[in-house]
Amino acid sequence: MKWPFSRSKSRKKSEDVSREQDEQTASAPEAADADVVFESRFADLENDDPDIRAEARRLLADDLTSLKMVIHIYQECLNAEPRRASLAGRVLGYKIAKGSDSIILARFTKIMYGVNISFIPCMCGHCGHLNRGIAAPANGPMVAYYGQDDDEGAYATPVLCDKCGREFFVAWDRDPR
Ligand SMILES: [Zn+2]
Repeated sequence: MKWPFSRSKSRKKSEDVSREQDEQTASAPEAADADVVFESRFADLENDDPDIRAEARRLLADDLTSLKMVIHIYQECLNAEPRRASLAGRVLGYKIAKGSDSIILARFTKIMYGVNISFIPCMCGHCGHLNRGIAAPANGPMVAYYGQDDDEGAYATPVLCDKCGREFFVAWDRDPR
């Protein structure tokens, strides 16, 4: 007869503790924590371990707040930091292509994310692995493109290979923008 009592008591105590914690973490520190978590997950997109890279991508894609930040990064970094933009683009591509080999046209992306980009599959220029959901300019799927180990071409975008973890380039014959 003793332990059910002590059990309910201990539960009450833990509820008090969690309420106290809620009061301590007001909105500002919470937002700062969220930024730290986001940046560490984003950094994991470049981790040496392919499983960690895949998990980071899944976590970012499944959280709506993170997804909005990823869209923002893609748009902000496209010209100045193409590698960072490309990492962001792969998160968006992962979510929209759902692991398929399909080409996603910009008009669908516009509906889902509000941005004018398409997604394409392309083989890695190093190991030949087919990488899916690579963010590309709107006309990217309509112009011939190749997976290369350099950025030679009318236009090129860097991609971190899902399998070998090395950077290759999707290069287009004509500028697809
Ligand atoms: Zn590769």
